[in-house]
Amino acid sequence: MTSTLPSNLSSKTSSVESLTLPISIRLRQRLEEIGIPFLANDNISHVLRDGDLEQLEVEVAGKVRELLRSLVIDIDNDHNTEETAERVARMYLHEVFKGRYYPQPKIASFPNVKKLDEIYTVGPISIRSACSHHLVPILGSCWIGIKPGDRVIGLSKFSRVADWVFSRPHIQEEAVIILADEIERLCAPQGLAILVKAQHYCMKWRGVKEPQTSMVNSVVRGDFRHDPSLKQEFFELVKQQESLLIR
Ligand SMILES: [Zn+2]
Repeated sequence: MTSTLPSNLSSKTSSVESLTLPISIRLRQRLEEIGIPFLANDNISHVLRDGDLEQLEVEVAGKVRELLRSLVIDIDNDHNTEETAERVARMYLHEVFKGRYYPQPKIASFPNVKKLDEIYTVGPISIRSACSHHLVPILGSCWIGIKPGDRVIGLSKFSRVADWVFSRPHIQEEAVIILADEIERLCAPQGLAILVKAQHYCMKWRGVKEPQTSMVNSVVRGDFRHDPSLKQEFFELVKQQESLLIR
């Protein structure tokens, strides 16, 4: 589930590749060769070369077309689904699962020159993901609490990194851990707390069909974990931010 890897890894992959193989197989070979996992919520951008994503888009569209045919949908005569395969391929690779195929957005960190050590929270940050089990949406909000360490990042950067992490097929429990790992890598805070509240369409749209059920989970690290009053303060601040929301 790691996402940040040394950028020189791709150069270690074999240059001998059979170009007759589908691009997904070639990418898989590169990943296996250097031992990078490629689970649904892993980022595989390190092995992508120029033009690979375009080839992958064509391959995925072809497979989606076959899926539609297997669902006995007349895509040759139905004007509504004629280009659905291409749309779905673009949506998966460049939008809803872009966190798998694109590198982390550039996020600069700065030295904490004023030695700030008061906690602050950022939120709600909109999160959009999909469950790994059914590939249907998970939509919700996220709050991030920070007790700064030696480095700081801009407030808007938390939204960017959250969007990148959540734009993959996930289960919510793992998404929060991956986001926490990425934020720790970016600014090594003394304390980090993350709270996520989300609605899962695999529970709303199908299955038990519970329209109101949501899932709430959190991760607390560093000083938030060791100091119960700090943890309490984080949840209080989140409550205050929620009360500010326009309903
Ligand atoms: Zn599901």
